[in-house]
Amino acid sequence: MNATNASNASSHPALAAADPELAALVGAEERLQAETLRLIPSENYASRAVLEASGTVLQNKYSEGYPGRRYYEGQQNIDQVETLAVERAKAVFGVDHANVQPYSGSPANLAVYLAFAEPGDTVMGMALPMGGHLTHGWGVSVTGRWFRGVQYGVRQDTGLIDFDEVRELALKERPKVIFCGGTALPRTIDFAAFAEIARESGAVLVADIAHIAGLIAGGAHPSPVPYADVISTTTHKTLRGPRGAMLMSREEHAKVLDKAVFPGLQGGPHNQTTAAIAVALREASQPSFREYAHAVVANAKALAEALLARGFDLVSGGTDNHLILMDLTPKNVPGKIAAKALDRAGIVVNYNTVPYDPRKPFDPSGIRIGTPSLTSRGLGTEHMAQVAEWIDRGVAAAGTSDEETLRTIRSEVATLLTAYPAPGLPT
Ligand SMILES: *Cc1c(COP(=O)(O)O)cnc(C)c1O
Repeated sequence: MNATNASNASSHPALAAADPELAALVGAEERLQAETLRLIPSENYASRAVLEASGTVLQNKYSEGYPGRRYYEGQQNIDQVETLAVERAKAVFGVDHANVQPYSGSPANLAVYLAFAEPGDTVMGMALPMGGHLTHGWGVSVTGRWFRGVQYGVRQDTGLIDFDEVRELALKERPKVIFCGGTALPRTIDFAAFAEIARESGAVLVADIAHIAGLIAGGAHPSPVPYADVISTTTHKTLRGPRGAMLMSREEHAKVLDKAVFPGLQGGPHNQTTAAIAVALREASQPSFREYAHAVVANAKALAEALLARGFDLVSGGTDNHLILMDLTPKNVPGKIAAKALDRAGIVVNYNTVPYDPRKPFDPSGIRIGTPSLTSRGLGTEHMAQVAEWIDRGVAAAGTSDEETLRTIRSEVATLLTAYPAPGLPT
């Protein structure tokens, strides 16, 4: 047995003994996450404490219902776990009500539709190719098939949301629900502007903060709390918790949201995930999390500056948050070719449409990058010029099929990262 295998065995001894094949895959993933520069903006490194909570016997328990109102006995501990998670969510985000049971961001959003709309009703959100999420009424999603999705975008000249267009569309279409937020939005979301439009058009405003929840918790992005009727979020992106989700609101919507999640949409909550959400929220209430959230944004701004200096075209010209959307058209390298080459160079990104993309979604013009994961490792603004240089060299090498350069970058990346061990990974 070589040293690498020995380390797998010690980090998951029972798994390694019972299922060496699976344990080897987990070990390989641990090494991949240790040795690569992970720039996918929706990903992160959860702490060891979060991972441990996710792997507990809490998962053996059925708990349909809510604390104090369950359909199964034996909830002495589970009720306290869920109450802790709920109370911490309320404290971290400053909301009246939190539901921590949605299995993930997509079911959380489906619960919102169930709470406020009937099949066939009009709903409104940002179009997927403009940076919105599938669940904001896009056609291939159940939310665009069972509801009549009308979609807004960003302006071609600025890459920014045009609120006159959003208002006009909302007043004409009168949606029951308006979603703001998205998956490829590099700029601050103007929750107040959306709230005014929702009020004028009689819609429920949902702020989907899946990407930016950690920034909001850490004070690095304005909060939607004064403006949105409902806040939907995942817990595994910038918030750095387990894969899960939450719905938050003022007291007036508490009942209808809770009923939509259970019994409307789900059965038993994943109690091990609830526990890990509670742990993540405790972490998010610490001063170090504020530093992390601000560092994520500082790193993204520094990386954007360094990429602009190298002649890259960034949608909207830069970033206010954790995310950068790069249009590679001027570099003459399609997004998918660039993403795959960067992956071989140890830099993990995703190819992405850019607004008004002339290319197809499965072969778009852009790549999407972000700084949450590298910030969790402790990389700072002083490293961003180097990251930009690797991306620049990697994209150029992609264009010329220069595999030698990609291999060189991969080893340079791994060398830097050995000094910045990632949270959660075995050491
Ligand atoms: C990630 C994301 C979701 C969906 O979350 P899943 O956990 O992948 O289902 C929903 N909305 C937005 C804006 C997201 O970024």
